[in-house]
Amino acid sequence: MPVVDLRSRFVAAVRLFRVPADDPDLTRAQFDAFSKQIPLLYFILISNTIAVAYTHVNVAPDWLAIWVPSVLSMVGMLRTLWWLRQRHCVRSDADILSNLRATNWLSLPITVGFTAWSFALYPYGDPFAKSQVAFYMAVTVIGCIFSLMHLRSTALIVTLVVDVPYVLFFYATGEPTLKAMAVNNLLVTGAVVTVLFIYYRDFADLISSRKSLLAQQTATQALSDENFRLANLDALTELPNRRRFFAELSSAFTDAERRGVCVAVGIIDLDGFKPINDNYGHTVGDRVLIEAGRRIREVCEGFGPQRVEFARLGGDEFGLVVCGDPEDADLLRLGERIGDQVKLPYQFDTAHSGLSCSIGFAVFPRSATSAEALYECADYSLYHAKRFLRGQTVIFSSELEAEIRSRGVIENLLRSCDFDAEMDLVFQPIVDAMSERTAGFEVLSRWHSPLLGLVSPADFIPAAERIGLIRPLTQALLIRALATAKTWPDDIRLSFNLSAHDICSPDGILPLITIIENSGLSPRRIDFEITETAVTFDFVRAQQSITALKAMGCGISLDDFGTGYSSLSHVHRLPLDKLKIDRSFVADINDNPVSHKIIKSLTGLCDDMEIACVVEGVETRAQLDTLRRLGCDFIQGYYFAKPMRLDAIGDHLARERQRLDGTAARGAKIVA
Ligand code: C2E
Ligand code: CA
Ligand code: CA
Repeated sequence: MPVVDLRSRFVAAVRLFRVPADDPDLTRAQFDAFSKQIPLLYFILISNTIAVAYTHVNVAPDWLAIWVPSVLSMVGMLRTLWWLRQRHCVRSDADILSNLRATNWLSLPITVGFTAWSFALYPYGDPFAKSQVAFYMAVTVIGCIFSLMHLRSTALIVTLVVDVPYVLFFYATGEPTLKAMAVNNLLVTGAVVTVLFIYYRDFADLISSRKSLLAQQTATQALSDENFRLANLDALTELPNRRRFFAELSSAFTDAERRGVCVAVGIIDLDGFKPINDNYGHTVGDRVLIEAGRRIREVCEGFGPQRVEFARLGGDEFGLVVCGDPEDADLLRLGERIGDQVKLPYQFDTAHSGLSCSIGFAVFPRSATSAEALYECADYSLYHAKRFLRGQTVIFSSELEAEIRSRGVIENLLRSCDFDAEMDLVFQPIVDAMSERTAGFEVLSRWHSPLLGLVSPADFIPAAERIGLIRPLTQALLIRALATAKTWPDDIRLSFNLSAHDICSPDGILPLITIIENSGLSPRRIDFEITETAVTFDFVRAQQSITALKAMGCGISLDDFGTGYSSLSHVHRLPLDKLKIDRSFVADINDNPVSHKIIKSLTGLCDDMEIACVVEGVETRAQLDTLRRLGCDFIQGYYFAKPMRLDAIGDHLARERQRLDGTAARGAKIVA
């Protein structure tokens, strides 16, 4: 056999007598199992020793029959006590290894001690006592090996120290019974050692498979934890997401209900986010959302004494759950702090974004009895804030509740409304500012509900949008408006209002194009009025629809200009023909220098872009004069005429002609 092979075998053999140092899980398991077996081991050893010592008391000298076994048993008992105390200690891997190593080495002197004592006692006894010693050694070692099954190295040391001298000694006595016992013991020891190896291998395998199972389990748990985290996290802002928000809301609600305290839900919507997204692109939009989310989260975390849960609900909408019995003053304070933070400049561009936020709150138990209803109320408060109190915080109140009720009534009745029978059209002249001649009519709808009476379009148009009826309504109204306009003189135009849903719907503008084509009215006589808010709803789609209408020859007016939050870039990127300046700027044009300035700059803008400027809501001659001086092209308002019924149009045009002819005649007389 080559030397190297011999050496490696020797090293492997030596390793059998050492505690494994490379597997802390195995040594820990050995330590645990062994600490449970140790009382059994020493019980076998000490009780067997006492039995042998007892029969030798008057036979052997006292030091051998009494003192030596007493000392050996004492050592055994001390070891037992030490091990019993280890059971409840928390130990490090290194500690365990060093303890097992100590046990391994201690087994050598202890086993040598007992073995030597047995051999020393042997010569004193009669044949019976001699056989007892032989029996004692054989039986005890088997008991000890079984107790040391988990600690193979120690079991092998004990076997070697006891059995090798045993077999040699008793075989050498020449006495046939003892010789037979020696052979017998050799065979049994062989069998027991085989069992020891098999058992120890299985034990080590068990520990290693338990270890890999645990590792697998930990990995699976980590994966499931991560899945849970991701499922509840908004990917962009890394804030809790909508799912998490509703889980939080429902548990906070249940808790508040049980404790009989208030809980509030809030919805935040960023004002002016869409234009940022449209103008600067989605990357900048995303960064603004992340930053706004971070700022709001900071406010929520630093808010007290109430606990505020914060989540991103989607788009530019965020949700709040305010726990801990908040009062209205707390909610307003929270809303103000959030608003202040959101308004601060953002680092994405040198231009100031003008971002702000509107917040709607609703409080349990005052406003709703279920978490879902509470959320709906908060949503309505937000809607109210966005519409009337932009950039502010609105808490759901009984007035809003009454409004919701009437909204609900309008929505319900609208569902069963017969458009042809109940909807009516009225027409308001749009007048050339210089000639004061009617250039066209804006068609405005009216609803004569059999139950509610006359309902304003400001109420039923948004209702139709909410319940998804706006597109059929627009189509029905357009058919009638076009048929009416066909009866007018060729130089009179028709202005028709479109809603955001008409121009941003995925089905596109096709149904309206078909209606125009079928009407027989020249598209060149039609202007479509689109509000700037509708354009920002979905700029790309709106642009496509507008381009399609424009391609037919229709005119496009940007309605209510100045009230929404679209930027000038919209105006530049759309093929517009007219800009309609909102009537809110006209009311105080002669008293408020700001309004005056705004209209002046807007007319300048229209001049630059070479599009016409229409001013609506003109009620007095003084307003008209100022607007003419500022260079407005068209005027619409009560000063010239309120919206009129179809049958009044003929009279109106005739009177206007008379008036203008009169003025012209007077002018001619003066000149003559
Ligand atoms: P709008 O397009 O800005 O229409 C002008 C509104 O201002 C009309 O209110 C008109 O009656 C009112 N108005 C006109 N001149 C004056 C004035 O000198 N002083 C005052 N105080 N008000 C004046 P109306 O008819 O109640 O319509 C409200 C809004 O409803 C419209 O605003 C328009 O956005 C919408 N709307 C009306 N009809 C339709 C429609 O058929 N389809 C769509 N999508 N929206 C419509
Ligand atoms: Ca309009
Ligand atoms: Ca308008």
